[in-house]
Amino acid sequence: MTLGMVILGRQGSGKGTQAVHIAKRFEVVHISTGDMLRSAVEEGTELGLQAKSIMDAGGLVTDDVVNGIVAERLAKEDVRSSGFLLDGYPRTVGQASVLKQLVEGNLKLAINLDVSIEEVTQRMISRGREDDTPEAIARRLELYESETSPLIQWFDDEGILCVINGLGTESEVHKRVIDEIEKNL
Ligand code: AMP
Repeated sequence: MTLGMVILGRQGSGKGTQAVHIAKRFEVVHISTGDMLRSAVEEGTELGLQAKSIMDAGGLVTDDVVNGIVAERLAKEDVRSSGFLLDGYPRTVGQASVLKQLVEGNLKLAINLDVSIEEVTQRMISRGREDDTPEAIARRLELYESETSPLIQWFDDEGILCVINGLGTESEVHKRVIDEIEKNL
C-alpha cells in the first residue's frame, strides 16, 4: 500500500510551496490540480478552454471535470508505485467522496495548513499574481469557506486530519509541517 496525502489550505496559505517540500521529503508525486488546469489553459486544450473563464473569475471548475483529470493522473505508474500528495484537490465534499473511492485505503493524512482569512488576504494582495484581482480573491475565499472548509470536518471524521499552523517564515512552517507529518504517519 502506498502513501497518499492531501493538503488543504486557503489560497495564499503557502500550501503549494509546502506541498513541494513535503513531496520531496516523503518521495511522493506532487499533484496540483491548479497547475494541471493552468497547463491545459496554456496549451489551449478543450479542457483549458472550458476552465479558463471559471478560473479567471475565481470560481470552481465542475466536480466531474476535476474528478476526471485526477482519476486519470492517479492511475499512472509513478503514482501507483510512489504514492501521492494532492494539492488543491479535493475542494468539495463531492470531490472528497470520489477521491475516497479512487484511492481506497491509500489515503493516510489530510493536512490542513491553517492561516486566517485576514492574513491570506494581505499575502495575496502583496504577491500581485495576474489572476489575483480583488474580485477573484474575494470569490476564491468565499468558495473556500462554503465549499472546501466542510472538508476539515469530513477528514476529521475519517480520522486522518492533521492541522498545522501556517504562520511564520517558509522554513519555519516547512520544519513544523515535516515534524507534524512524521508524528502522524
Ligand atoms: P489553485 O492553483 O489550486 O489555486 O487553483 C487555481 C484555480 O483552478 C482555482 O481557483 C479553480 O478555479 C481551479 N481549480 C483547481 N483545483 C480545483 C478543484 N479541485 N476543483 C475545482 N476547481 C479547481
